[in-house]
Amino acid sequence: MNKELHPVSLVGAGPGDPELLTVRALKRIEAADVVLADDLIDARVLALVKGRLLRVGKRGGCISTDQGFIHALMLREARAGHRVVRLKGGDPFVFGRGGEEVTALRAAGLEVEVVSGLTSGIAGVAAAGIPVTDRRASPGVVLVTGHPGEGCAEPDWALLARCGLTLVVYMGVARCAHIVQQLQAAGLPAQTPAAVVHAAHTERQRHAVGTLAELPELALRLGSPALLVIGAVAALADAVALAAPVRALALRG
Ligand code: SAH
Repeated sequence: MNKELHPVSLVGAGPGDPELLTVRALKRIEAADVVLADDLIDARVLALVKGRLLRVGKRGGCISTDQGFIHALMLREARAGHRVVRLKGGDPFVFGRGGEEVTALRAAGLEVEVVSGLTSGIAGVAAAGIPVTDRRASPGVVLVTGHPGEGCAEPDWALLARCGLTLVVYMGVARCAHIVQQLQAAGLPAQTPAAVVHAAHTERQRHAVGTLAELPELALRLGSPALLVIGAVAALADAVALAAPVRALALRG
């Protein structure tokens, strides 16, 4: 009766390319009996799964994407003695609801291990040649969501407009015009360098560089998933393609 239960592993898949997985992430993925994967996980990473693969993201064709349903599924699988990996894009603790899942699993008496991944807001932006900090341009960076979920306050854009730090906005494409309007209203100059990095570290990677005023148009053109980068470091983006499959859409300069 006393089945040995394995800790559930919350694993960061990084932004795309499987070469950016940590060694630990790769070990957990390969050893898993069941992997519950979110949207935005690169097909090349999913191909590493040897156990059962359950797509639980909104675009994964799963009927219920409710967090409660996902928690219940993880509990059922872990209690059956299976090695469960919960696979999330980027880092599980950066806009990934990883914290909520750890809380729910621990409350149910299970052990949880968190395997950090490269977050798209740093590694994905770097794929376009943009360092999120650079002492010539920016003493720091703010990672912020453009789409605060239910129960989460809207970021204080006026405060961010004045902070002098690089802004990296996740989930910001749909509300880009609103965000830019709020930043400009608080005094951030229209000429501030800005960039959009789409599908970083995947075969569809593109980026575009321009100004804050041009950002809504660039974001619309490239579409989701993308990061918005606002601040002087955006001007350091690569103007031309580095190497296949990286194709830069350099709209300026
Ligand atoms: N936990 C993830 C973020 C999940 S929120 C991480 O650490 O990266 C989802 C958002 O992340 C997307 O809307 C987009 O803004 C960003 N994102 C994730 N992967 C991306 C990629 N490969 N390229 C560009 N943006 C990405």
